[in-house]
Amino acid sequence: MPSVSEINNRLSSIDQEELYEAFQQLSPCNICPRECNADRLNGETGYCNTDDSFRISSICIHRGEEPVISGSKGICNIFFTNCNLQCKYCQNYQISFNCLNHDTERMTLAEVMYRIINILEEGIKAVGFVSPSHDVPQVKVIIKALKALGYDPAFVYNSNGYDRVEELRKLEGLVDVYLPDFKYMDEKIAEDYSDAPDYPQIALNAIKEMYRQVGAKIHLNKDGQAERGMVIRHLVLPGHAENSIKVLQEIAQKISPVIPISLMSQYYPTHHVAALQYLGRTLKKTEYQMVVDAMEKLGMYNGWIQDMDSYENYRPDFERKEHPFE
Ligand code: SF4
Repeated sequence: MPSVSEINNRLSSIDQEELYEAFQQLSPCNICPRECNADRLNGETGYCNTDDSFRISSICIHRGEEPVISGSKGICNIFFTNCNLQCKYCQNYQISFNCLNHDTERMTLAEVMYRIINILEEGIKAVGFVSPSHDVPQVKVIIKALKALGYDPAFVYNSNGYDRVEELRKLEGLVDVYLPDFKYMDEKIAEDYSDAPDYPQIALNAIKEMYRQVGAKIHLNKDGQAERGMVIRHLVLPGHAENSIKVLQEIAQKISPVIPISLMSQYYPTHHVAALQYLGRTLKKTEYQMVVDAMEKLGMYNGWIQDMDSYENYRPDFERKEHPFE
């Protein structure tokens, strides 16, 4: 296993202009639908409160994703700090709330490589970018650097769905598996909960583009892990089964009913939303069942549903950087 300084030496022998080409997009930054025009290369930050560094909260093995994403050995997940959506109920709020001070979470590219390579050397075959929509240039640099160092895992783009189609097009051929959320079809809920009333149309267009690139069929390696394809995630929120059903209808009617869906019941109320009418409680079994029934009626049989007690098992603690899920 090479040291950080050995990796650094190898990285400096790569054409730096070519490696960091994508960073030009950071000034002015219009990478995501917020279109802030922030001069991130010169220290400015926009809505996502992120500059041009590698701000990463955790790089760890995650074995609790959908079976085709984790495979039998797990996936090396890179959790980006901050987010271009600010969902009030965010289950990863420790790393994703832009108002928090995350100044200690900057890494050099060599440090990022060192941590990923450490995990790949254990036999892990996939690298997942989690909440990457505000850091697409950093994603491209990480992929290019890993390939230049001789590693070729499957790359998984695990986003909130609030992505610009133009940016996704630039990932074609680099990303192997798309794992987007499709959170809302109701603009009012999208505005109230995530400060993004345009989310329904943006996410629909983004997911159509992902589908165009990789299609609905999941191609697996011998460990049962996705090498190519896509899975759409949807977290059913308490009190909002109708929104969930509308999301499923939109996917079935405007994209394809055979795209694998991960329909999640794992919502848990963080202390930030404990006082809110719906978000302050867990999901009821009847609400979840209503959405599962709708999914079946729409002929959507590919994918996964969860047990109602799953919220007890999916509560990461990012204070434990190397092991937030254990
Ligand atoms: S990535 Fe950040 S700075 Fe760029 S447009 Fe989106 S929110 Fe604004």
